[in-house]
Amino acid sequence: MTSQGLLVEKPRFPSLATSTNFPAGMLTTAAISARGVEMVFQSGRQSYQALGGIDLEIQPGQIQLLMGPSGSGKTTLLSILAGILTPTAGNVKLLGTDITRLTPKALAQFRLAHIGFVFQGFNLFPALTALENVELALQLHGIKGRTARLEAKLLLEQVGLADKMTFKPRDLSGGQKQRVAIARALAGQPELIMADEPTASLDSHSGHAVITLLHHLAKERQATVLIVTHDPRIMDVADRIAYLEDGKIQPGVG
Ligand code: ADP
Ligand code: MG
Repeated sequence: MTSQGLLVEKPRFPSLATSTNFPAGMLTTAAISARGVEMVFQSGRQSYQALGGIDLEIQPGQIQLLMGPSGSGKTTLLSILAGILTPTAGNVKLLGTDITRLTPKALAQFRLAHIGFVFQGFNLFPALTALENVELALQLHGIKGRTARLEAKLLLEQVGLADKMTFKPRDLSGGQKQRVAIARALAGQPELIMADEPTASLDSHSGHAVITLLHHLAKERQATVLIVTHDPRIMDVADRIAYLEDGKIQPGVG
């Protein structure tokens, strides 16, 4: 069995692919664009401003890091850019669509179609094998039966886990679990890949493998990769780094 026909590349950026007037390089549709994003958390009478006026633009195929001390707002910003949290002000455009204006249902569909999210702590189903975890994600994309199984195998091969497909999460190392989580995020070939501290709990060898994989995805497949990290090793593969402090991007750094 070959991979032909299973992992068919879908057009990455339809709005660019169908535009004939300009060479692609001249177009300015950012993959991710945030304007004036603010987030105020309310708990009882207390309110806390976690983000204060974030502007950020990330071009297709780039690896963007979000760095900054603990509590600076990295996870909050990533969650907003992924449509998991709604900002209290500002807007977020992904692939030209303002996701802050979508209905909850349309947003869920948009996220499924375009975003692969790697959660901190993996969020794998403990009762399912690596293969079944990835298959389940493919099923959400309407890929069923044998095709889902074959595609799940290909995704796990791609992240270097061909020999661990029948293992359950408890029998995998942290690095292997992280790679299952990445394989699962790649189901449906998302243009946008977002990861929250993907190497935080990994030893140096596993951390390096995960970094290489994310770099490969951006450069070979023109995916846009947004990574929240504390890990200086990831800085080597980054195109751009934004530093957050107290909910603001530090100007002139990175
Ligand atoms: P980081 O990921 O950089 O460590 P977070 O985005 O998780 O930071 O949090 C930024 C700030 O917002 C922290 O002070 C945190 O306590 C606060 N915060 C995050 N989520 C909530 C929430 N749901 N309710 C109230 N405060 C929150
Ligand atoms: Mg965080």
